[in-house]
Amino acid sequence: MTKMTKLVAIDGPSGSGKSTVAQLLAQSLGYMYIDTGAMYRAIGFSVDQQGVAFEEGEALKKCLASMKFEYGKDSDHLVIVNGENLTEKIREHHVSKLASDISKLPIVRDFLFATQRSLGEQNFSVMEGRDIGTVVFPDSFMKVFLTATLEERANRRLLQLKRNGTTHSYEEILEDVKQRDYNDTNREIAPLKQADDATLFDTTGVPQEEVIERLKTLVNERASSLGM
Ligand code: C5P
Repeated sequence: MTKMTKLVAIDGPSGSGKSTVAQLLAQSLGYMYIDTGAMYRAIGFSVDQQGVAFEEGEALKKCLASMKFEYGKDSDHLVIVNGENLTEKIREHHVSKLASDISKLPIVRDFLFATQRSLGEQNFSVMEGRDIGTVVFPDSFMKVFLTATLEERANRRLLQLKRNGTTHSYEEILEDVKQRDYNDTNREIAPLKQADDATLFDTTGVPQEEVIERLKTLVNERASSLGM
């Protein structure tokens, strides 16, 4: 059997609850938590801020080559780009679109692939994103595809944004989630899709504590069956 990485891959569409679930699961298992969406958000934000076009070419290549990208110092300094702490800024509503747009570009995915691989190989980790089980860590020992209905995901997103003081309406958020689903699923490189060997978990109507408990049991069973 091929060697497996001690990593739980959690993939799924926007608003599926991945971030909170992955974070709490990591905490309760004593694993490291890695949020790859935050990385795409930070790159989208920074490239936009520098006025560089979102297209493959010399300008973006140069921008990435000179970019100092730091991830995971602590939760208040999750992403630092060229010395600027972007941890709060990347949660603003408009950054979702920047992340979704920049994430289509192979040059950006390659740039982050190396960072993600090296982070995930260091410790037992829970890594969440869109392509973790399919592309970044196809060798992870446990893969979960988390989803929920479109309406529930839009509602969860709205609640999350409201906590940060957003004034966007449910309809706007629903449209945004729909658009991101389309972009993430239909892009050519590393599209959002369930890995063949991932466990599908529809969390519609399932309380968060129960989602975490069920995942924890699955991870522990898997780890002990593999003698990890
Ligand atoms: O998970 P989050 O909503 O923060 O991700 C923001 C965007 O980053 C997604 O809509 C997606 O386009 C992109 N992304 C990606 N691959 C990942 C994680 C995020 O393409 N592994």
